[in-house]
Amino acid sequence: MQWFGRRESDNVEDNRGGGGRFALGGGIVGIVALAIYYFTGIDASQLLNQVATNTQPQTEQRANDPKAPEDKQKNFVRVVLADTEDIWTKLFSDMGKTYEKPHLVLFTDAVRSGCGNASSATGPFYCPADAKVYIDLSFYDELQNRFGAAGDFAQAYVIAHEVGHHVQNLLGISAKMDQARNHLSEKQYNKLSVKLELQADFYAGVWAHYEQSLKKVLDPGDIEEALNAANAIGDDRLQKQAQGRVEPDSFTHGTSAQRMYWFKKGYETGDINQGDTFGNGDLE
Ligand SMILES: [Zn+2]
Repeated sequence: MQWFGRRESDNVEDNRGGGGRFALGGGIVGIVALAIYYFTGIDASQLLNQVATNTQPQTEQRANDPKAPEDKQKNFVRVVLADTEDIWTKLFSDMGKTYEKPHLVLFTDAVRSGCGNASSATGPFYCPADAKVYIDLSFYDELQNRFGAAGDFAQAYVIAHEVGHHVQNLLGISAKMDQARNHLSEKQYNKLSVKLELQADFYAGVWAHYEQSLKKVLDPGDIEEALNAANAIGDDRLQKQAQGRVEPDSFTHGTSAQRMYWFKKGYETGDINQGDTFGNGDLE
């Protein structure tokens, strides 16, 4: 992906380092009042101290500190976020809607979000309550070393997927999910969750389509990098690696094949209307 020297978003909050750290004591609190949307289905149980209240981050914001060290990875994230802003602003405008830009929070180890506290172990996530994407950049090392998904466009896909959840939030899909959650069994809800996650992958693919057709910034092999990442983090594959077997009822994000299929469909069509992963009015 050709990103160097391009426009960077102002909507990245840098909470890394000392300011972003606080102790996550105690056990896991079982109250899950607000949905939170992850990039993968791994280690979601490690979400800690989930609370119903909208806790504002009490950490010191360093985004405006001119002395804060800049780094290449942060520049990259800011460019990718800027690209999602440009493309989704256009696509929403085409629908006669206004795209409200999400913030993206960089953190290390642990973070306090509008959806409760989370540790890096959960991986990147999106919180609809504060409309922010959260990522500890160490996940990119994990993506490469643990999941074998290298490349800058694999990294861009992670952000585009979480921004896809933001799009769902703006379109009212997340609110319907929260309602559905109240009257569904865990097994039924997991099925819906898979559809929601696959749609976020589809939206990431739509974004990739316009990265190429509008901005012309993709390099050869970029789409393969994203598909390789989608393949690497399928629920079936992660479960097989973790426990040697696969339990489809517990899938929350979809299989490797599904995740690749929907990303690819978004990329090939660029048509936001073709992302009805729910089908059959499941959310009505
Ligand atoms: Zn997700």
